[in-house]
Amino acid sequence: MLSRLLDFLFPRTCVVCDTRLAMSEQYVCPRCLMSLPLESMSTDWELNRHVFQWRGEHPALCRMAALCIYQRENAAAHLVHALKFERNREQGIWMGRLAARKLKGSGLFDGVDAFVPLPLSRRRKHHRGFNQAEAIARGLSLETGIPLRTDLLVRNADRESQTHFRLADRFRNGRGLFSLVEGAEAGGQHLMLVDDVLTTGATMMSAVAALEQFPDIRISTFSWAWVNMSTEVWAHARRESET
Ligand SMILES: [Zn+2]
Repeated sequence: MLSRLLDFLFPRTCVVCDTRLAMSEQYVCPRCLMSLPLESMSTDWELNRHVFQWRGEHPALCRMAALCIYQRENAAAHLVHALKFERNREQGIWMGRLAARKLKGSGLFDGVDAFVPLPLSRRRKHHRGFNQAEAIARGLSLETGIPLRTDLLVRNADRESQTHFRLADRFRNGRGLFSLVEGAEAGGQHLMLVDDVLTTGATMMSAVAALEQFPDIRISTFSWAWVNMSTEVWAHARRESET
């Protein structure tokens, strides 16, 4: 009764197309949910382009996966944007649950010991009120039963928001972003790093580099969405960052 009244007084709308949601619907209308730009790599989590690009430098890297393709103004971009800027932690948990349900049968989570969300710096977390990567990871954890670990990684001092950097600068800026928590232990485990969006991969690989200090470790990554950047654009940015 109360929720019906609230729905009448404060109608909720689809995050993507703004049409009004029915009582039973959450965040996204059925039409937009059906047309989510899903990544179609099926079960190739260990042999895709992203893994090939990074495994040379990071031998502990096992699988890399995303639920959606991120493109300006597409449904995935709308969802990620709303999550970040409307500070809706519950939406993040819902996104994580959705991803886990869609990918459960793909083998992506097989043998994974824990989800490790990319941490925000303390200052930014305070400013935003929550960590969107942690919300997504919590949804994954609730749906799969695999535990969440936020006691392993810390983000080093804030740097300028990455959105203002050119591509090549992002590679430079990504180095040394994270450290291990002193005394943390995860040796012999298979950890899955979780973030909302993967663009160049530089930030994610900085977290991989930190976790690689654990002995006998395997590391996989899950991004809710990733940019389908062409190999040439990527290679160019990389070369530029190294000069
Ligand atoms: Zn919609």
